[in-house]
Amino acid sequence: MAAPWEDVLHEEPLVREAALLAVDAALLAGVLMRTEEEPNASEVVNYAPFTLLPSAVPNALFEQAYAVQQDFNLLVDAISQNREFLERTLASTIKVDDFTARLFRIYTQVLEEGLAQSVFLGINRSDYMFDCGVDETPALKQIEINTIAASFGGLTSRTAAVHRQVLKVLGKAEEASRLLPNNPSQGLALGIAKAWELYGSQSAVVMFLVEKVQRNIFDQRCVENELWNRNIRVIRKRFRDVFEKGSLDDARRLYIDGQEVAVVYYREGYVPQNYDPQNWEARLLLERSRAAKCPDIATQLAGTKKVQQELARPGTLERLLPGCAASVARIRATFAGLYSLDLGEEGDKVAAKAIADPDCFVLKPQREGGGNNLYGEELRRVLEKIKDSPERTSYILMDKIKPQPSKNYLLRPHSPLKVSECISELGIFGVYVRRGKEMVMNESAGHLLRTKAIEHADGGVAAGVAVLDTPYLV
Ligand code: ADP
Ligand code: MG
Repeated sequence: MAAPWEDVLHEEPLVREAALLAVDAALLAGVLMRTEEEPNASEVVNYAPFTLLPSAVPNALFEQAYAVQQDFNLLVDAISQNREFLERTLASTIKVDDFTARLFRIYTQVLEEGLAQSVFLGINRSDYMFDCGVDETPALKQIEINTIAASFGGLTSRTAAVHRQVLKVLGKAEEASRLLPNNPSQGLALGIAKAWELYGSQSAVVMFLVEKVQRNIFDQRCVENELWNRNIRVIRKRFRDVFEKGSLDDARRLYIDGQEVAVVYYREGYVPQNYDPQNWEARLLLERSRAAKCPDIATQLAGTKKVQQELARPGTLERLLPGCAASVARIRATFAGLYSLDLGEEGDKVAAKAIADPDCFVLKPQREGGGNNLYGEELRRVLEKIKDSPERTSYILMDKIKPQPSKNYLLRPHSPLKVSECISELGIFGVYVRRGKEMVMNESAGHLLRTKAIEHADGGVAAGVAVLDTPYLV
């Protein structure tokens, strides 16, 4: 699965020259991030970390990932409309996990009031690694699907151009011409624009709900710009603004600062730290509103790790997608082993197995954003401690996926240039829009390749571990 740059990997002067150019090309192309020191100002910015070289991705697996994306869109959407499934699946989790419980309470509350929202917009990203099984043939295995605030669709729309130029410097013009175009920012914007249009008010705006620390603003701006280009007004607000200035009218239309909001696009709200009591109130107000939330709270819950684990149970996919045998087969083919830690015999058995062999598993709490999972000795220690307590039901267990490493240079501001053994994670963006019961858009919207050094078990570009990459299909 090696990319054809092994020959230049250790040619130091050439690599140095390429790295200098790469950084400037990234800055020129807009592969940007605000700095850690000034996360909320654009006076001083830097490039977002990225690989010097594109990483090899098996063509067949790349195509498989694209081919299953519309199925995943349908699945997530079906889960979000299945109250019985969400209630049953999350019952044990919400007893012990306060964050999921609070989300769930809002979910129940808006259902009981009756939904005002009739246009639904989903933007997700299904992430995969290429597992090298016993016979060394890589297989596409899903890590997770992100149904809220899936990021880097903007910046990654601009990374292929940088890698194309780098390859040319390295004398690989032919290979450069084979890097695929990729424009998730446009795809995501098309979905938002469609939801905005179906909402049906020319003067209404799209509201990006953003975090306090906005280092990754340029990623969001890429999508915003696409909307402005379509003459759709975008505003950026925090939960606090919604709490202070948001209101609903009799028809539960959402207003903020006197502006009607057609679409709420959450780029926050996925971790407990995003919420204080007032922010929870703001979230409830948004969910009660007629505006198309991306995602609505049901779809956020559909993206929990507990739901992912339940999907892997025999028969679950068939029940959620009746009459869609081909979709079910495509989805199931991407599943790694996933195990419930609910109290009982099944959970006891798998907990014992993981304690005996921690390097074959990942222990995952119901959290997003990277840096929360447990591996190896730490997994063993934590599981030993909680194995007889209800606390263990706030986690799920997953088979550890073991990709074949390859060499690359990870370019980060203020970091020395050195070769690292790396592994990659491929994400495919999915976008869909539903009006009432009718699916009016169901698309894949581009890809994201992230690469990290093998010494890091967990990932995430925002978490400072992974960097942006471009797939080179082999
Ligand atoms: P988060 O919601 O925090 O992003 P993920 O499930 O995506 O949670 O896990 C974070 C990172 O941990 C992934 O990007 C990947 O690098 C690593 N990881 C997660 N699950 C596995 C697994 N089953 N095998 C190997 N690595 C994994
Ligand atoms: Mg993830």
